[in-house]
Amino acid sequence: MSDSPRLPIAIVAAMHEELAALLAQMPDEQRIHVAGRDYWVGHLQGQLVVAVLSRIGKVAAATTATVLMERFGVRAIVFTGVAGGLAPGVDVGDVVVATRLLQHDLDASPIFPKYEVPLTGHARFAADTAISDALAVVAADLLSDPVTLLGEKVVEDFKLTAPKVHRGLLVSGDRFVSTSAESEALRLALPDALAVEMEGAAVAQVCHDYGVPFAAVRTISDRADDAAHGDFTRFVSAVASRYSLAVIDAWLATLPTDAPATI
Ligand code: SAH
Repeated sequence: MSDSPRLPIAIVAAMHEELAALLAQMPDEQRIHVAGRDYWVGHLQGQLVVAVLSRIGKVAAATTATVLMERFGVRAIVFTGVAGGLAPGVDVGDVVVATRLLQHDLDASPIFPKYEVPLTGHARFAADTAISDALAVVAADLLSDPVTLLGEKVVEDFKLTAPKVHRGLLVSGDRFVSTSAESEALRLALPDALAVEMEGAAVAQVCHDYGVPFAAVRTISDRADDAAHGDFTRFVSAVASRYSLAVIDAWLATLPTDAPATI
């Protein structure tokens, strides 16, 4: 990440429920409307940030990332929100911090190897190590006390007694994975995939093109199986936004601040 605190850090989520609490914490925010989305520029923990809802899916996420580069000159993008757990033990309420990201629905074989983004030579795009390490540390700290983070009722309702942080491969595609057959197929094809969502790998690709650091931190809202839809809806409204705010806030607090930046 560039050392200039005067360039904003982008915080992106796909849906309003995932970012609502964080947006409420930005008192000096200024709204800039570009290509159908509102970019909220302001300060959090003394850091200049741009917060935006990308909307759901890879193209929506890539468009948003491109605007963040071209219009706001961001120095890093952190994607937050929810994902479906794939690997055994990646349970509802856990957090996944991506080390690498792959588009599970991209296949230009036999011209290019399956999953490879044509003409880049990459299938798995690396997340920024320093940001990801720091996110994993703050997430582990927050999850060590879920009652303080979420309150007793939510912890009981979702049985979040011992939530864990996982690090590894996050896969993205333009599909809400909500059948056990589909998640089993993904597990077979990509045995090291921890979780599935619909935006991260697209943003990772854009960040790779621009040479801007990227990280993704996702809370597991469902197991991408036949029960996914019910779990997802309840979890997102009760938990997702609080998790996102807590992790992003704690991470931003670890960064050095400079003289107040001007927008
Ligand atoms: N049925 C939901 C669909 C939302 S799409 C609704 O009606 O609102 C799911 C969003 O959460 C995407 O932004 C994606 O990144 C993430 N996500 C969570 N669980 C997922 C899963 N099982 N498969 C794919 N994306 C998932």
